[in-house]
Amino acid sequence: MNFSAVELDEDTRAFWAETRAFFDEHVTEEVHAEERRTGSGFNEAFHRAFGARGWVLARWPVGQGGAGLDPVRARIMELELERSGAPVIISQTTPLPALAVQMFANEELKTTVLAGVGDGSISICLGYTEPDCGSDLAAVRTRAVQEGDEWIINGQKMFTTGAQVCQYSLCLTRTDPAAPKRRGLSVFLVPLDLPGIEIRPIHTVGGERTNIVHFDDVRVSDYYRLGGVNQGWAVLSAPLANEHGMGEQDDLAPNGGRTFLRDTRRLLAAVVTWLQTQVDESGRPRLEDPITRERLARVALDIEAGTAAHGPMARIHASGALARAASDLLELMGPAGLLPHGAEGAVAGAIPEYMFRFTPGTSIYGGTNEIHRNLVAEKFLGLPRSTPRD
Ligand SMILES: Cc1cc2nc3c(=O)[nH]c(=O)nc-3n(C[C@H](O)[C@H](O)[C@H](O)COP(=O)(O)OP(=O)(O)OC[C@H]3O[C@@H](n4cnc5c(N)ncnc54)[C@H](O)[C@@H]3O)c2cc1C
Repeated sequence: MNFSAVELDEDTRAFWAETRAFFDEHVTEEVHAEERRTGSGFNEAFHRAFGARGWVLARWPVGQGGAGLDPVRARIMELELERSGAPVIISQTTPLPALAVQMFANEELKTTVLAGVGDGSISICLGYTEPDCGSDLAAVRTRAVQEGDEWIINGQKMFTTGAQVCQYSLCLTRTDPAAPKRRGLSVFLVPLDLPGIEIRPIHTVGGERTNIVHFDDVRVSDYYRLGGVNQGWAVLSAPLANEHGMGEQDDLAPNGGRTFLRDTRRLLAAVVTWLQTQVDESGRPRLEDPITRERLARVALDIEAGTAAHGPMARIHASGALARAASDLLELMGPAGLLPHGAEGAVAGAIPEYMFRFTPGTSIYGGTNEIHRNLVAEKFLGLPRSTPRD
């Protein structure tokens, strides 16, 4: 890894200033208020403006829906996005199914969908998990049966985050129940406005909105099939690898590592700012207390260590760093840290209280920490598989 500083030329500095101005203009207090109210991880006006810049697929080539940003500009954009605190769940997950569309959709569908993803008018959610399967995705039961040029889908998807705001779901279905698990699956890009689809909300303790999606005799044209019949596992391989931080284009991933480190940074900054206003019983500023400083430094070091981590290791570390920080800093703050948004005395818009609730989910979605540990064991340490391959 190269840790040397990156020299920025004048053009790049101008890009940085312009990027910061963009986020200052578009990530308004109303955007934050809507996110606190809905927990959707999405704001339509912001997402459209973001898409108009090509930043949903920031590194993809211009002409394929992207902005063609080089790695330095992409990182600058990401840093400013992070600083703005914009709701990003849907803009970060949509590039994953977009990869499957790019690789497996017919030409017409690919052109339309990628153009829409690129300009922010189309978003896609991940329709993988079901009530009885998450880690073992190949066990999905949602059934798709062919009838002429159509497929009839019946079943239930669980935790389909963003279904209420997305146009499509990347839906993993079982098309051959008699075949071994992985060889009987097919993937469809299901338009979410089809008759027979019902989206029901789930609100998590962490304030996130996700969904149960019911499919009741939903008729989907074969036009929306991605890849071959019963070849669905291959269709998911690029989106899943990217989600786990192991894809060739892993900068497209909603890299749990980076996102959770951003949250840990926000939490630390909020607590430090609050501590600057606090004195102990003897009138000494709390920030001068060596034990307090050591605890803050430990969080800062955890963030730095995560910055240098890569792939699934980054996600495991960052999820843990956020959990450690949320619990330790909350203890440091005492009751003030538990005050919710809007309560008198709530700290920094109640960031500590929110992070404490938000933290548990970070070890679950996008594959649990245990599944990421299995990946590290198998793909990086060369240990045997923990579960038999069917
Ligand atoms: C807020 C939220 C948003 C989500 N968004 C989406 C989404 O948009 N789309 C989507 O498809 N899914 C989504 N999910 C689902 C998420 O990906 C799954 O919950 C997750 O993969 C775990 O699956 P499960 O809940 O079925 O738990 P299980 O797979 O039943 O796991 C239960 C426990 O067993 C452990 N375990 C299971 N298998 C193994 C193994 N082989 N080795 C070691 N330990 C194992 C797990 O780590 C876990 O601790 C979301 C979940 C949450 C909470």
